[in-house]
Amino acid sequence: MRVRMARAGPSRVFLRLRTRPDRTDPSDAETRGAMLSVIPNPPRAALPIHGSSDLFPVRRVYCVGRNYRAHAREMGADERDPPFFFLKPADTLQIVPEGTTVEHPYPPRTDNYHFEVELVAALAQGGRDIPVESAGTHVYGYAVGLDMTRRDLQDEAKRQARPWELGKAADFSAPVGPLRPAGIIGHPRAGAITLSIDGDERQRGDLSEMIWSVPEQVALLSTYFELHPGDLIFTGTPSGVGPVRRGETLRARIEGVGGIDLRVM
Ligand code: MN
Repeated sequence: MRVRMARAGPSRVFLRLRTRPDRTDPSDAETRGAMLSVIPNPPRAALPIHGSSDLFPVRRVYCVGRNYRAHAREMGADERDPPFFFLKPADTLQIVPEGTTVEHPYPPRTDNYHFEVELVAALAQGGRDIPVESAGTHVYGYAVGLDMTRRDLQDEAKRQARPWELGKAADFSAPVGPLRPAGIIGHPRAGAITLSIDGDERQRGDLSEMIWSVPEQVALLSTYFELHPGDLIFTGTPSGVGPVRRGETLRARIEGVGGIDLRVM
């Protein structure tokens, strides 16, 4: 199997797994009895590893709602409620190299597009009913991510008791920076998590303020789904979420994990 890098759209990095035999060589397909894809194989998102040319291919993107007390309060929830989960399609990831400002397209059908800075945990091992005591060791590494949200569409979905995808799964709605392996940075349990717009700080929290820790999230999530290597978890956002407008620059930082910068276009 050959693997090559491809870029599609602004700052997206994909792995293209070339499983399709070359059509110019019919003997190839005949000898292997391979089936041909009738369309080009869809690309697979992959995160760069900081300080390396290696890649982390992504399977699923899970997200945790209301995992910092102050944010749970600002969203009108009881902070003692257990967290809940939702997903974004893996192709909503926008890879943001560190040290650059990438262009982030403002999505259609919204007038209230919100930022949520989040620690992203990337799983190297999966499983079902993972014990919380060992769940931390399933994490390969961590990155800075944004759970960008069409809040008006999400609020309307809440009012009508409808699914959240229109609010949460816009194209490019999951910007994420390079992964830092836990083998290098450890498993961050504390540290500032911040977001600013055009230099004006809007969100500031600390990873120690998470209601449910990363191992607890992995353990709980694995009671609902079988987790697999390549799964990401966006672990929730601190308080201060709000709208971003075209032309503004988002700067997200997590102490010890890195940062990403995006200009909304
Ligand atoms: Mn979120």
